[in-house]
Amino acid sequence: MGEAITELKGTDRIIVPIKLEPHTKFKFTCGPGVPCFKLCCSELYLPLTPYDILRLRNRLKLTTDQFLVAYTEPFILPKSKLPVARLKMRNDEHKTCPFVSEKGCQVYEDRPLACRYYPLGLGIFRNRDEGRNEDFYYLVKEGFCQGLDSGPEITVEEYRQSQGIPEFEEPVLEWAEIIMKKESLGPIDVPQKSLELFFMVSTNPERFRSFVFESRFLEIYEVDKETIEKIKEDDLALLQFGFKWLKSVLYGENLIPIKKDLPKKKKMKPF
Ligand code: SF4
Ligand code: SF4
Repeated sequence: MGEAITELKGTDRIIVPIKLEPHTKFKFTCGPGVPCFKLCCSELYLPLTPYDILRLRNRLKLTTDQFLVAYTEPFILPKSKLPVARLKMRNDEHKTCPFVSEKGCQVYEDRPLACRYYPLGLGIFRNRDEGRNEDFYYLVKEGFCQGLDSGPEITVEEYRQSQGIPEFEEPVLEWAEIIMKKESLGPIDVPQKSLELFFMVSTNPERFRSFVFESRFLEIYEVDKETIEKIKEDDLALLQFGFKWLKSVLYGENLIPIKKDLPKKKKMKPF
């Protein structure tokens, strides 16, 4: 097993606080044959990443507004206090996920990142000696899950690959950085307008696209023609652009610079 960790960030559901490395092996099996099949698909606090929303919306052939209204509710991330959308559970006895059926997950190929990770979790470890954050993985051992400690051994990285995690994680790395940075800043006051901008980019590409193309955005920010053409059509490119813009607006990183000849009063303040 990996080394014990002494400081945790980014999760509240740790039962076994053991740091797992990509090469750490664990035993796990899951599928329609396990007695606990689907038990993990109820009573969840399941925050959706912007890419989760894109994939699910496309799969269900809905507009983002339709998807958000039907399947999500606003949620404040406990550590960063940033607003995101989480999956809204059904109003049934067990508060089941809206996508679970007798046969299992109905959106399996497009299931959210958190579902892909389970029973692993991803967190951040503050390495004080080296003064930097490191990713780590941990096991979420919940009593009802009978798949743990049975089946063949698999490394953390093999499991990540088998669940298609890199494909879902890579598009939201910059988004995760924004959240982690806010966590590391501690309990500071954030203007309501900044929270609304974060929520818009994090949940609704159509609204963000309208904001870019139907407001004075392109009069204020330096955006090259190639990027403008790309984000008109490509939702994933729009997301990446949105994350860079959020870093500029929230943290003053200047990744999407303000035009030089703009009057000072038009500038947006960082946190
Ligand atoms: S999206 Fe699928 S895997 Fe995730 S909780 Fe719902 S039914 Fe389960
Ligand atoms: S509880 Fe564990 S073993 Fe059972 S279906 Fe869920 S992940 Fe698989």
